[in-house]
Amino acid sequence: MKETPQIILTSFHRARKMSGDKYSICRFQPSGSKLPELRFLAAEDASGCKLLIPSRLEADQFAAAYRQALLSRWELVRGWLDAINPQNGPILLLCWCPFSEATKAEMRAGETFLCHSGLIGKLINHYRPDVQVCLDEDREAWLDVRWRPMTYEVVNSLGIIDKQQNLFCL
Ligand SMILES: [Zn+2]
Repeated sequence: MKETPQIILTSFHRARKMSGDKYSICRFQPSGSKLPELRFLAAEDASGCKLLIPSRLEADQFAAAYRQALLSRWELVRGWLDAINPQNGPILLLCWCPFSEATKAEMRAGETFLCHSGLIGKLINHYRPDVQVCLDEDREAWLDVRWRPMTYEVVNSLGIIDKQQNLFCL
């Protein structure tokens, strides 16, 4: 039986104990980290300028700008979506959140955080409904509901889906 392709949305920090093919979806990686990049998924506009999330209230504006940015390089994005086919365990998409200073401040202020990885989850849900999107436990607990994928599973710190989530899938 063919396994369901799986993508885990997590952070550089949490991914350390997880296995699979790891990619950065950010403009910069932590020092010493040299992972392959999916730069076209980074939060930057068509000219490579950083897209800022000005505040939680302006989440819609950021989401619209990010959508526009992805459309500006849609051939790359769509090509990647079409080609998702994990060969060595899951594909892990890594961001700093919620361990960047900006995110930590957001969480102190509002208890949830906004991370573009959640929007990528929505994108995958839409274009590749056959792919199982997974959130790490930080995202499960604190990712703003507006930016969560429509459907997702949750993985533990080892990148494995907790059995209790599917207790009644008989
Ligand atoms: Zn993030």
